[in-house]
Amino acid sequence: MNKFFLIFVVLAGLLPVLPTPEFWITLANYIGLYSIVALGLVLLTGVAGLTSFGQAAFVGLGAYATAYLTTAFGLSPWIGLAVGLLLTLATAFFIGAITMRLSGHYLPLGTIAWGLSLFFLFGNLEFLGKYDGLNGIPPISLFGHALDNGREMYYMIWVVLLVAVVAVQNLLNSRPGRAIRALKGGGVMAEAMGVNTAWMKIVAFVLAALLACISGWLYAHLQRAVNPTPFGLNAGIEYLFMAVVGGAGHVWGAILGSTLLTLLKDQLQSVLPKLLGANGNFEVIVFGMLMVLLLQRARDGIWPYIRKLFPQKPIAVAPASAPALPMRAKHTPGEVVLKVDRARKEFGGLVAVNDMEFEVRAGEIMGLIGPNGAGKSTMFNLVTGVLPVTRGEVSFRSGGALRRIDALSSREIVKRGIARTFQHVRLMPQMTVLENVAIGGHLRGTHGDVAGIATSILRTNRDEENALLFEAKKQLERVGLGNLLYEEAGSLALGQQRILEIARALCCDPTLLLLDEPAAGLRYLEKQALADLLKKLKAEGMSVLLVEHDMDFVMNLTDRLVVMEFGTKISEGLPADVQKDPSVLEAYLGGID
Ligand code: ADP
Ligand code: MG
Repeated sequence: MNKFFLIFVVLAGLLPVLPTPEFWITLANYIGLYSIVALGLVLLTGVAGLTSFGQAAFVGLGAYATAYLTTAFGLSPWIGLAVGLLLTLATAFFIGAITMRLSGHYLPLGTIAWGLSLFFLFGNLEFLGKYDGLNGIPPISLFGHALDNGREMYYMIWVVLLVAVVAVQNLLNSRPGRAIRALKGGGVMAEAMGVNTAWMKIVAFVLAALLACISGWLYAHLQRAVNPTPFGLNAGIEYLFMAVVGGAGHVWGAILGSTLLTLLKDQLQSVLPKLLGANGNFEVIVFGMLMVLLLQRARDGIWPYIRKLFPQKPIAVAPASAPALPMRAKHTPGEVVLKVDRARKEFGGLVAVNDMEFEVRAGEIMGLIGPNGAGKSTMFNLVTGVLPVTRGEVSFRSGGALRRIDALSSREIVKRGIARTFQHVRLMPQMTVLENVAIGGHLRGTHGDVAGIATSILRTNRDEENALLFEAKKQLERVGLGNLLYEEAGSLALGQQRILEIARALCCDPTLLLLDEPAAGLRYLEKQALADLLKKLKAEGMSVLLVEHDMDFVMNLTDRLVVMEFGTKISEGLPADVQKDPSVLEAYLGGID
């Protein structure tokens, strides 16, 4: 990708020096401006999975802020930029805090709503010149030199764009970036790994808005005039379209999509009116049809097809060595670490977990078994805070005492030392095995929220990254996946994906490990290896709660068993005794007559 980057920079750099027609430069400038906005959408929509139709409004905010300050007060465009960014930061933070909570279709609808509001605000404020806008905006001056023509603005725009591409790429390939990438999985997994998903959504939203603002600033000083038209909903839809066409999951997709659509639009605008013999924005119809085609044929956009032509090297690579991360103190063997006290979960009229009581002791492997639908996974979700209890208590030992955790979020619970896997694997199929496991190390990063983002963008977070990736590699080697570090996680066999989840959970540095059917889909030898791994973890002082279907697997592995049926505990004890319990036989085999 670096070679590709260099070729791209050289080609882009030569364009204005060659006798390129002025019109091409203008097109290239617009492509650059659109790409900056689309890049924000790659982060927000493609990577984080949050659809926004309202980006044009933030472009407008950036453009109007500088237009107003430079024309009304004669301030420098740089002050216009600073104020625009601050204004966007505040606005995006406020709007993001409200709309990012919306799910499903409500989020895009919400973005349309605020996109329209800001648009009408620009058009109705007296001091912003209403629908006529503001004229006479001065050029940006750089080291005393005014960038007052298209060729000079070209360099400004494309340097900003390339810096933004590198910044977004740096961010995505680091701890906060992995957290943002993990949002697409729906959030349950990310939260279970300690990611504050609400905050990460706002971060993606604010960063995308800041990019849009910068594009607006450049636009205002290129055009030297602003009016509300380019910041309306139409433009918002086009920006989104650019990102989706190019390939919303990839930073280069932003530039590709902006280029294709700008060129296409230019062609259509001159050809269609001639064909149809009338004036109008007919290109919108063609765009609409293209969108439908694209959604049917190439959901990930065009970039993935181009990317295949270039050999890919993994970006996140584990170092050969790195300082070990600090670890939590283990519990004293034998003490109660998890206490479930009359925990109950009702789904409407269905009692999925019926006043369950059991304890897990430090350094033991405890099995939770029962037929399908018995409530085992629901029990796990109560312990890990994925679901709230209807009533009852769950307590966990941390800081030397049993403390209630039933009112805590899963993010808080993993902080206290409970890590889990999921019965239906939840991983990011397009990320490498190593990166997936590194998500588990999220809470072990040393940088704070904002510092983490800043140091990632500037790449001054190498120590933290090396330590996290090294830890991820170590855990993968521990579970026997050390030879698959740089494979795409989605290409692994299902059984291996389950093992990957164990490595990810281990990366959380837990004292209690909750495994939901880890042996499902494993072959005999893989099951043996898993059993050996769990025994080794136990020997190191780890406590394990294991949901399993496979009776043979639990019999030889667990210290104690709890058996559930229809949400209720029907038996508890040593595996050998439980195996002979008539009620267990009845539950499993439907009675023996
Ligand atoms: P197990 O893991 O033992 O197979 P589950 O805990 O997945 O069982 O399910 C227990 C019961 O609760 C099942 O009848 C299931 O249909 C129901 N159930 C699980 N999750 C939900 C939910 N989110 N909403 C409604 N019912 C649920
Ligand atoms: Mg289950």
